[in-house]
Amino acid sequence: MSTMIDQAKKILKTVFGYDGFIYLQEDVIGNILRKNDTLVIMPTGGGKSLCYQIPALIFKGLTIVVSPLISLMKDQVEQLMESGVSAVLLNSSLTPYEYRRNVERVKQGKVKLLYVAPESLLKSSVLEMLSSVPVDCLAIDEAHCISAWGHDFRPEYRRLVGVRLRFPQAVSIALTATATPRVRKDIKSSLGFEDSGEYVAGFNRENLFLQVVSKDNPLDQTIEFIRKFPEQSGIIYCFTRRQVDDLYSDLKDKGFSVRPYHAGLTEIERKQNQSLFIRDDVQIIVATIAFGMGINKPNVRFVVHFDMPKNMESYYQEIGRAGRDGLPAHCMLLFSYADIHKITHFINKKNAPEKRVAHIHFNAFLRFVETDDCRRVPLLNYFGEEYSIEKCNMCDNCLAGEKELADLTVPAQKFLSCVKRTGEVFGMGHIIDVLRGSRARKVLKFGHDRLSTYGIGKEFSKKEWMILARQFLHKKLLTQDMEYGSLKLTDKAWDVFQNRETVLGYLKKQDDDKEVEKESKIKSTPDHDKDLFEILRKKRKNLADDAGVPPYVIFSDRTLIEMASYFPQTMESFLDIHGVGIVKREKYGSIFLGLIRKYCGDRQIK
Ligand code: ADP
Ligand code: ZN
Repeated sequence: MSTMIDQAKKILKTVFGYDGFIYLQEDVIGNILRKNDTLVIMPTGGGKSLCYQIPALIFKGLTIVVSPLISLMKDQVEQLMESGVSAVLLNSSLTPYEYRRNVERVKQGKVKLLYVAPESLLKSSVLEMLSSVPVDCLAIDEAHCISAWGHDFRPEYRRLVGVRLRFPQAVSIALTATATPRVRKDIKSSLGFEDSGEYVAGFNRENLFLQVVSKDNPLDQTIEFIRKFPEQSGIIYCFTRRQVDDLYSDLKDKGFSVRPYHAGLTEIERKQNQSLFIRDDVQIIVATIAFGMGINKPNVRFVVHFDMPKNMESYYQEIGRAGRDGLPAHCMLLFSYADIHKITHFINKKNAPEKRVAHIHFNAFLRFVETDDCRRVPLLNYFGEEYSIEKCNMCDNCLAGEKELADLTVPAQKFLSCVKRTGEVFGMGHIIDVLRGSRARKVLKFGHDRLSTYGIGKEFSKKEWMILARQFLHKKLLTQDMEYGSLKLTDKAWDVFQNRETVLGYLKKQDDDKEVEKESKIKSTPDHDKDLFEILRKKRKNLADDAGVPPYVIFSDRTLIEMASYFPQTMESFLDIHGVGIVKREKYGSIFLGLIRKYCGDRQIK
């Protein structure tokens, strides 16, 4: 066994160019090599692919990889071929000639990895073909598709059990980034896995900087933000198609390299925009949540949420598209009370049981948005993980330092008594209108301009009151009806009335400009020679265009960054660079070494 793991490590270095395993890779690979069925739960960027790719190179027979996403399959096959691994795919995107050629190669035993869509694998012709081929491993990617509890249920996946029984000598590995225990259980029971073969990696993505900014002037805020990432890829998520179109044209007018993406575009337009982005021809995609499935681009350096996501899962999935290469990436969410309103309204349109669940999920997300502690605490808690490090130093709150607590007892008393006077049936907006002495129709209609609390809160703006009221909610002085938003007092509120309890909190959110300044000090990439990096990047782009593949298939950014910081001069030292295996060295070594040597020669860098 130990020799097999040694062999796995050797392949890791010589084929893929990496120095060591990350997260649970080594354990998972060991378990697969012992032919134990395995379920792997790892966040995006956790390195799931190598968990079956390396065993595939050690096993004598074939490894079948089932994946629902054609673009991802194509991507992986291209990447494997660049590293000299024989992999093919079978799906509906191939021409009849390509299809037959791939089938032939599999039959002749010339292929180590076969990527197939589930519906292709279930075809009798394909199963027939495979019956004469020794199969050692069946890998099921995006395994949550097997569960009706997952966010992407695909009935074909249910039928994979039958396929599995056809290859009794093959070990199965199921992989997903979906964490919920319910889905996990479903996958295992559907596939007949034992409990012991479950590997769950932590969900913390350490390289993502998390920031929540209050949304004042979203266009300017966004522009200021993306200016900090010249020529670096990023995604901006909006709530509606219309918002996407508007923001897209605003950014285009300002001269940004940007394309839109949403379900209202034609399929051709969508494909084209996605491909321009993946190939580094376009810097920014403005999109609805329709964008992202099947995006394997490792060097997305920022994700902006122009509007609030509906829940933690969507948020986590969307920020998860940043920084898959493990280098730092920046996630900024613009948050406003108007957005809360919009989403609540949207949720209220659902039918009863769904509505309840959606409210619960949305409220959990609000806890993340409004927390003053490390953002990783509510985020990871949501996924059932305890986060025990005191400061992550990769979120706005951890960098903000101590905020000064203010005594909010008086504003709390004003607010709470206004809730009481109006009969505990109104929402925040109305209470604030009364406090601020508004002449709004609703205020007059209920005669609330005659209450003793009318107009006693003019010292705060509407927005400031919102921030205060949310804090009172957090401190459980009030409860809020999930559906209608109406506020009610709790027992704790009475203690505040009677001055038995002081309310401490924050009068104003810290100046956002200051926060932005602070986080911008975080380095987005490690130290390296920027000019050389640009030269290498151009070369990579040319090579990629010639080969008709995305640039990251040739080399990742991290690989180029290492070249531009270590200046390798020989074929031997070139192999030490992250992501350079033997085949890639043969293919590209002399080209890149040539550029590095010339650069060093011109500037007399040793
Ligand atoms: P996932 O499928 O879990 O999202 P991938 O398999 O695409 O993750 O891997 C994410 C990134 O991490 C890829 O760019 C991959 O090349 C890199 N990677 C995977 N394993 C290692 C390793 N052992 N050392 C360094 N980088 C790795
Ligand atoms: Zn933190």
